[in-house]
Amino acid sequence: MITLKSRREIERMRQAGLLVTEAHRLIASMIRPGVTTGEIDQAVENLFLEHDAIPLFKGVPGPVPFPAVCCMSVNDEVVHGIPGDRVLEEGDIIAVDTGCKLNGWCGDSAWSYAVGEVDAEKKKLLEVGEDALYLAIEEMKYARWWSEVAGKLEAFIHSHGYSSVEEFVGHGIGREMHEDPQVPHYVDDETYEKDFELKPGLVLAIEPMVNAGTKDVHVAEDHWTVHTADGRPSVHFEHTVAMTSDGPVILTPRFDTLKEAE
Ligand code: MG
Ligand code: MG
Repeated sequence: MITLKSRREIERMRQAGLLVTEAHRLIASMIRPGVTTGEIDQAVENLFLEHDAIPLFKGVPGPVPFPAVCCMSVNDEVVHGIPGDRVLEEGDIIAVDTGCKLNGWCGDSAWSYAVGEVDAEKKKLLEVGEDALYLAIEEMKYARWWSEVAGKLEAFIHSHGYSSVEEFVGHGIGREMHEDPQVPHYVDDETYEKDFELKPGLVLAIEPMVNAGTKDVHVAEDHWTVHTADGRPSVHFEHTVAMTSDGPVILTPRFDTLKEAE
């Protein structure tokens, strides 16, 4: 069941979202060759705890509970990579996904970053992934149904020769990180059947995963890390977005888009 949020509730979700924004400010400042993914994860955990926020990813149930506050997925890893001793190297790309619950409300955002200088393929993939997310949010201004947005998003990704991952989807978000509806980044007969209307009060985590090659993925032996089936790179970009009567509002804005006063 989809629960619509009031203006007041969306404002509270924005506070949670802004803490996730701060987490990404910290993440972006730490990413460089030589840093370990575990060091970045620890810094984000400290930030959330300093603000009395609950990290949403740690302990997520699975064959083994997810052990960290961020998912960190490097190069051919799509999502759900586990931070640890891995040292980032010049030329890597890394998707960092994190979320927290603040005063009972959730925020969730992922971003993909270049580590130093990356090759032309990765650079282009980063650009297309980011553009795909913002295109979807822009399209929410005009669309009545999510499928219209998802169709444009998928077509945009395909127009660059890339693929949109289908096995993992976005989600409604509110008091819980994962609420209804499921938010696919592609369209087919099944997604049309589960389509939903973009009404004020709807809050979604929109999170396209864009693969350079095939859309197919597989899960590693650690039970979490998702890799591309062909070993080519992948990027992941996610914002928590509220539909309002004035259109879509990003609740996890990028730190470099915030005015100093905020
Ligand atoms: Mg996320
Ligand atoms: Mg999410």
